[in-house]
Amino acid sequence: MIKKLVFTGIIISVFIFASSTRAEESRPASLPEYNLSVSFDIAASKIFGKAQIRVTAGKELIIHTEELKIIEAIADGKKIELAGKEDEKIVLQKNGIVEIVYEAEFKQSSVNMIDKKGITLRGTWYPLVEGMFVYSLKAALPEGHIAVSEANKITKSKKGDLVEFTFDFPYPLNDEDGISLIASKNFVVSKDSYYGIEIAAYLFPEEAHFAKTIIEHTKRYLKTYEKLLGRYPYKRLSIVEHFQQAGYSMPTYIFLGREDFKLPIEKTPLGHEIVHQWFGNYVYTDYDKGNWNEGLTIYFADHAYDEQQGKGWKCRRRILSNYKSYVKAAREFPLRDFTERYDLASRSIGYGKAAMVIHMLRKVAGDDLFYAAVRDFIRENKFRVASWDDIKKTFEKKTGKDLSWFFDQWINKKGTPRLSIEGVRATRSQEKFSVDFDLAQQGADFQLPVPVAFYSRGKKTTRIFTLGKDRQSFNVILPELPDEIVLDENLDLFRLLTPEEDPPTLARLASDEKKLVVLPSERKGLYREVIDIFEEKGEGIKPAYMTSGYPPRKGHAENEKQRRPGFLTKNGERKKRFFSKEMTEINDEAMKVSSLVVLGMDNPAINKLFGKTEFTKDHGSLLRVDIKKNPLNPEKVVAVVNISDNTSGRQKTAAAFEQIFEYPFYSMYYLKDGQIIKELKETQRGIRIKPDYRKLN
Ligand SMILES: [Zn+2]
Repeated sequence: MIKKLVFTGIIISVFIFASSTRAEESRPASLPEYNLSVSFDIAASKIFGKAQIRVTAGKELIIHTEELKIIEAIADGKKIELAGKEDEKIVLQKNGIVEIVYEAEFKQSSVNMIDKKGITLRGTWYPLVEGMFVYSLKAALPEGHIAVSEANKITKSKKGDLVEFTFDFPYPLNDEDGISLIASKNFVVSKDSYYGIEIAAYLFPEEAHFAKTIIEHTKRYLKTYEKLLGRYPYKRLSIVEHFQQAGYSMPTYIFLGREDFKLPIEKTPLGHEIVHQWFGNYVYTDYDKGNWNEGLTIYFADHAYDEQQGKGWKCRRRILSNYKSYVKAAREFPLRDFTERYDLASRSIGYGKAAMVIHMLRKVAGDDLFYAAVRDFIRENKFRVASWDDIKKTFEKKTGKDLSWFFDQWINKKGTPRLSIEGVRATRSQEKFSVDFDLAQQGADFQLPVPVAFYSRGKKTTRIFTLGKDRQSFNVILPELPDEIVLDENLDLFRLLTPEEDPPTLARLASDEKKLVVLPSERKGLYREVIDIFEEKGEGIKPAYMTSGYPPRKGHAENEKQRRPGFLTKNGERKKRFFSKEMTEINDEAMKVSSLVVLGMDNPAINKLFGKTEFTKDHGSLLRVDIKKNPLNPEKVVAVVNISDNTSGRQKTAAAFEQIFEYPFYSMYYLKDGQIIKELKETQRGIRIKPDYRKLN
């Protein structure tokens, strides 16, 4: 995730000419300048600032002040009145400087906070002026504080009993991204360099011993990503530990959270946030036309990592499965409307689907042209805001193809095609076989290059058939009669997974709109906490990799709501997510239309659903959660939760149960030596059919 301010406004883009080498990214003389100096009263959570904005005659300046208290504003040497409106407009008659003196109090908030624990400023903490500016920041802090901001170079100088930090970042920044500041008196700073780039780690004393590892991994990531994306654009890259925020990327620096240091590096957002240095922090995002940067970042960081391990298709299956779970029809919107995530549905669209679209673009372009086009896109759009349209333009130029159909169906439209193969028949023609079949799509009317694999006694032939309407007939001549035909075996297409392909997971259970808890026949008290936790989690579960405490966008109270047990209805009543019932109160129809939570292995529902042999009791675990397909309805799942009757372990069990919701993409969880063991059930890969050639002649 990258830093993005919460505001909407007109973005004035300025075309920038800059050379391409690391050392000489030069700054055009004509760029508008914004000088900001700030100081603090940390005990009072206050900031005092002076902004000087160089303005061209006749150009309208739109200023957002939000929580800032304007002390004085001077334009053209004359005092002006800022009325404190949402968007103040100023026009100067001749070139000159607008000076604004302000102060603000920032107590506990996720974007702006001044506290003795530290200073975080990344919301509207200075008068925000629409358009692109080259910012120059000076921050005076009490002795002992260490500050980080967007910078190619940071200099320190003593100013009375304060230390003044000067940040040199000679490139234009977009208003929505703007500049940020982080400071703490607890940072332990470690530095190194990588081919002229200063690599720094700002860690708290408890984590300071990780500095070397973090720096080494940062260098390794830079090496990998420079090969793919071109030179790293800046002269510094800092990894900053944050006590509150994690997984954020600003030009030249990255936040990691304390929790990230407990994980193996590849499980932290480090690689992802480094890729954002190119996508979002070098090429900026035109949020009004849709945020493309998460899709490209997921593809080059998270997906690429899985692909290197030969598991690219598993990453795509997870994306498609999550999409199916979280993006119910009413919550679907086209990629063009994605600005940032505010719930799991928006995440599945803006991150997941976007990454699939990049993958499909790679398939359309071919590997060599794809990577070359991505580098062109970066080069052509650096230091300016870009949109999906710019990606389209670069790819069309590079491939020489008209890609209107591609971007129109995947970016402008919503819709998730469900594929099927029907009516397979074959005729013998001399030594070969002529196989006819229909491909069909439901839920969309897209142009889909469908990879189809024909297996004959283990041997595979793959062809791509372009489906251009809801149903189309195709023919293929093969040397042998295929005994199995598989559509999209590698999950290369953005489509709705069939129930056979979609693994039974906790995510599917939690996101299901129809959930039913089947109460145990005995030992009901044992499951009290489990029922409470299910009640509380519901749809609000967060995947393990979604760790950042991103600020909720205005107008989306969703984040907060999700953490509370049950939804509060308008009348203040609690609306339950899970309905608990005794087995005797549940009829067959209810079991068929719901995803079920069956409590206890001796629950009579198990016998009814699976037969007696399905589960054994000798698993030796205090807690075990097994998620399976609902045998009565393959689109639904059943979670069998069993707790051993061990009262001393009860609290531990409840805590572990709570914890499994952090990892919702698994089918089985159990406790072993105090650790939660997780397993994912394998599923069918691709849409597979075994044709019946009874009519072969
Ligand atoms: Zn991201």
